[in-house]
Amino acid sequence: MRPPSVDSLAQSLAGHPRLSDLPRPLLVAAARTGIANDPANAESAALAAAEALKSRLIQPVINATGVLLHTNLGRAPLPASSPRSTVRYNNVEFDLATGQRGSRRTSVEGLLRQITGAEGVLVVNNCAAAVMLSLAAIAKTGGVAVSRGELVEIGGGFRIPDVLEQSGAALVEVGTTNRTRVNDYGQAVTKAASSDRPVRMLLKVHQSNYKIVGFTEETSIEELAALGQSHDIPVIADIGSGLLDANLPWLADKSGRVPELPWLANEPAVRQTLAAGADIAIFSGDKLLGGPQAGILVGRADLIEACAKHPLARAVRPGSGVLLALQNTLLAYMRRDLAQLPFWNMATLSLDELRQRAESIVKEVNDAVDMADGGRAPDAWVAETESVAGGGTLPGQSFPSIGVAIKGNKVPRLRRSSPPIIARSTDGLTTLDLRTVDPADDALLVSALVASIAPSLPQQ
Ligand SMILES: *Cc1c(COP(=O)(O)O)cnc(C)c1O
Repeated sequence: MRPPSVDSLAQSLAGHPRLSDLPRPLLVAAARTGIANDPANAESAALAAAEALKSRLIQPVINATGVLLHTNLGRAPLPASSPRSTVRYNNVEFDLATGQRGSRRTSVEGLLRQITGAEGVLVVNNCAAAVMLSLAAIAKTGGVAVSRGELVEIGGGFRIPDVLEQSGAALVEVGTTNRTRVNDYGQAVTKAASSDRPVRMLLKVHQSNYKIVGFTEETSIEELAALGQSHDIPVIADIGSGLLDANLPWLADKSGRVPELPWLANEPAVRQTLAAGADIAIFSGDKLLGGPQAGILVGRADLIEACAKHPLARAVRPGSGVLLALQNTLLAYMRRDLAQLPFWNMATLSLDELRQRAESIVKEVNDAVDMADGGRAPDAWVAETESVAGGGTLPGQSFPSIGVAIKGNKVPRLRRSSPPIIARSTDGLTTLDLRTVDPADDALLVSALVASIAPSLPQQ
């Protein structure tokens, strides 16, 4: 039998409900691949190729892993109605008051100044870019003192020694892996003073994704600030995760009470880092801040302006979509509107709330499956799980959560649901943690779970 024509095959692919939204050039490409891969079964090979093309597109997924900041799933969750997708034009560089050209720094940076109490603010594409920019603009070709315990790799190849080298600054290693005292910094500053690369920055880097425990000693921001002041050397703190305020005012209830979050203990916060005397604090937009991917520098106005004026700043400036999403995140902090801060909403969901959702999902799944097989042992049950913040933050810290478990490894099958559901499998079970799932998606979980347990049941 001759294989069908590319045209007729593409036409028939377009008839599949799951593929009908793919533009024709992609369907044609899938048809060609299908015919080339398996001329005798071109129809099914083309279907597989089209499904593969579709699965490579960026699309919404349901995160049932319990990892709140999942690096592979876009890190911080954004509100579903993110205006990124609806706004066509905006006044990112237009001053509505005067009708003249404006600055993209006005809005978001004003909000951040108010929230953090900083004099100066600059927003760039991500935290890695912010660190690089601060090194190039402030340390220039001078020395940068960093503790040997903080020469970190963040992931994706971001290594502090390499970033330092790329920026043109010179790394001055201080102390040891497990213990670094303020005297070590002092000696390094004195020693380098007479060299051709005197220390121009004291850099403190948060050990975001690992922990050194045991016989350890770390120099505080206060100590570094005192040393920096006596030598006129700025202290820059790369705190990474962007917890805005250790007192968590946005979580306060009507009587001002804030929930205890033990997993956040010892996490450096922006406000407190500045109050302790850091000249600049640097952090990500999409870790504990819970906004879009961005890098934020806050602190001394003269140093921030030096960063803003550096040629590299133009290369790492954020687009209006990012600024708009970040503005919405910051406004939500000011309104204390957890619905618009999904990370904090998820992180503070009560176990009772999660258990209720789990029980109703389990009931619906078991009822549906029982109708098919006459009801033997329950197929789904409520499971106690552990959520983690993730995204390279808070290593070793997990907190209790509730999910739904079913027998067998159904992870690949759930991933093929529409929208894809990302779950975890261990010891022959599949678990879906509900903390990271929007309650509005619970019904989708039910139908996907039923389909994975009893594939022969008609789909609702
Ligand atoms: C995560 C992190 C970075 C990198 O942040 P991105 O926003 O991913 O570029 C840099 N420094 C520290 C300390 C971090 O935790």
